[in-house]
Amino acid sequence: MKPLAGEIANRVLEYFDATRRDLPWRTNRQAYPIWISEIMLQQTRIETVIPFFTRWMEKFPTIERLAASPTDDVLAAWSGLGYYSRARNIHRCAQEVAEAGGSLPRSAAELIKLPGIGRYTAGAIASQAYDQREAVVDGNVARVLARLFVVELDIKSAAGQKELWRLAEELVPSKSPGDYNQGLMELGQRVCKPRTPDCKRCPVADLCGAFASDRTAELPNLPKRKKSSDKVVIERFAALILSGKNVLLAKRPAAGLYAGLWEIPAADSREGLEAALPSADIQKSIAMTREQELSHRRLKIAVYLGELARKPRIVAGYTSVKWQPVASVADLGVSSATAAIIEALT
Ligand code: SF4
Repeated sequence: MKPLAGEIANRVLEYFDATRRDLPWRTNRQAYPIWISEIMLQQTRIETVIPFFTRWMEKFPTIERLAASPTDDVLAAWSGLGYYSRARNIHRCAQEVAEAGGSLPRSAAELIKLPGIGRYTAGAIASQAYDQREAVVDGNVARVLARLFVVELDIKSAAGQKELWRLAEELVPSKSPGDYNQGLMELGQRVCKPRTPDCKRCPVADLCGAFASDRTAELPNLPKRKKSSDKVVIERFAALILSGKNVLLAKRPAAGLYAGLWEIPAADSREGLEAALPSADIQKSIAMTREQELSHRRLKIAVYLGELARKPRIVAGYTSVKWQPVASVADLGVSSATAAIIEALT
């Protein structure tokens, strides 16, 4: 494996040098922006992340500033990226790091102890910011390695992951491990694509087992996806209540789905909605329905228009309630379903 590993590493590094894009988190090799970008990039495209990242760095230029900011501001800056538990973990992590002096640890073994930092993110920060010889395995790397080394195992299974990490750790070079890791991820993203790998353009094509055996279409071995119709459906009944240019929003509890986010008031049934907003006049007919795929469930929201003479002190199921100008809903941490409903109905 050693000579082959060296050859693969050299070619991946050459590929990265030749195709490297100027991205805002690559301007300096500091751990803080690398960490934030890596968390934002999980399941989100680079083009989508860039404006979020830029605004985040303007708002929270240092870990200390981030740590000292209210959670609501952190969730608001994250609003639109989904997976809000990541933003909450970033905030908790920043507070731990700030308390310990303000610098993220240099080793993957220490990084992984922090909230929200898993094996992948620890490897990415340690290799890119601190030049540590640490591997990363994300979806792109997994695909490249599974094809390159003809890994037959289900790549999401424990055995498949173990094998991929083993290969990744053997391959990562001690010189420029961060560039190598980024190069391998970009190779997966731009060349070794899921359905149509561009093997003619691939710098490791002559070393690739799947290419040599014409098995690029059947690898990687992926588990069958749960069909959306197999998912449990959560039904919610919500009221969009406007007062002039303001919309009534309620804040969800600190735990559970969409924890700590603002949304239009909702309940598990139409009767529950009326009970939560006893002084509201809620129309009988549904103004719109909104369906949203969550990772293991499907959310279905029936939205009614309503009127209210004055803001209620509380709404059952929520921790606070407020009128928020429709034009500045995005300044709060709101669920993506609420953002879409307000946009559609106002
Ligand atoms: Fe992927 Fe094709 Fe390159 Fe093999 S040769 S790593 S299948 S792009």
